[in-house]
Amino acid sequence: MKSAFGKTKEGTDVFKYIIKTKGGLNASVISYGGTVTSLKIPDKNGNLVDVVLGFDNIEQYLGPHPYFGGIIGRYCNRIANGCFKIDDKVYNLTKNNNGNTLHGGEEKAFHRVVWNIQEFENEEGIGLNMSHASNDNDEGFPGNLNTKVTYFFSHNNEFKITYSAKTDKPTHVNLTHHSYFNFNGCKKNIYNHDVMINANKYTPVNKNLIPTGELLDVKNTPFDFLTFKNIGDQINAIGETGFDNNYVLNKHNLDLTLAAKVKEHNSGITLEIYSTEPGIQFYTGYFIDKIKAKNDIKYDKFYGLALEPQHFPDSPNIKSFPSTLLKPGEEYNSQTIYRFLAD
Ligand code: BGC
Repeated sequence: MKSAFGKTKEGTDVFKYIIKTKGGLNASVISYGGTVTSLKIPDKNGNLVDVVLGFDNIEQYLGPHPYFGGIIGRYCNRIANGCFKIDDKVYNLTKNNNGNTLHGGEEKAFHRVVWNIQEFENEEGIGLNMSHASNDNDEGFPGNLNTKVTYFFSHNNEFKITYSAKTDKPTHVNLTHHSYFNFNGCKKNIYNHDVMINANKYTPVNKNLIPTGELLDVKNTPFDFLTFKNIGDQINAIGETGFDNNYVLNKHNLDLTLAAKVKEHNSGITLEIYSTEPGIQFYTGYFIDKIKAKNDIKYDKFYGLALEPQHFPDSPNIKSFPSTLLKPGEEYNSQTIYRFLAD
């Protein structure tokens, strides 16, 4: 179901799509940023719980906010000093985070543009085909980049995201989705959630969260989520700011494999994340600070956790990381599945 949600500052119409599947899942997505504004999942008693942070009005999405629920591109996460080199040519990007580029820059970043959307339905569920043509030099990135993202909500309570992109000049691409999850209906922080991340190693960072290029073992450190760990305990173990790190997923190829799980015992909701990506950013929401949001709830630090499958941060500048280079004639492809269960 499609309805008007408001307009951008330039006057472009923004639409909201409500999707209800036979399994009870109820999602709301707006064309601004391809943003998931709510995602309701049946808990162990069959009651719907809104499991993602978000707003109920366009004004708050147009203003600065912590990337709630959007498509992130052209390059999610950080690029050091807002620049990279391809074939000896230096490209300067928009710097928006301590002299670095975060989440694709500013106005033309993918969570800030209006996507073209077509609804579709098949036996397995209901989806949205979204597309966006990003111009050469948008936010400083080379190449016209035609991007397609499909959100598919299955009757089995899966939220499947498929990304593809093509360029007409060599460029760097790294796309992800930025929902913050909270299985307490977003009413209190995520300390009571347990997390498992399928990674023996993570990429350590400097004070501005730029990777040093090393891969470190999680063993005997608070970064170890190889088996389920309580998030509150681990945040206390690691110190004030919590987690904001890329994990190197245990995999040998880019097949769809288990990346992480999240469990909350009161609702009984478990989320399993499968992805083709080599890494996953685990961020426990330290920078969420007193935000009045939907359902008259005020969010605060640690009110949501983001698990963002992606290539590693700053890959354009760290040659030992899996490459994010996309050339003309090639196609960027990526897939992530968020599967919800309740018991
Ligand atoms: C990053 C955080 C950043 C947040 C934006 C996450 O993906 O890892 O460092 O602060 O996005 O709110």
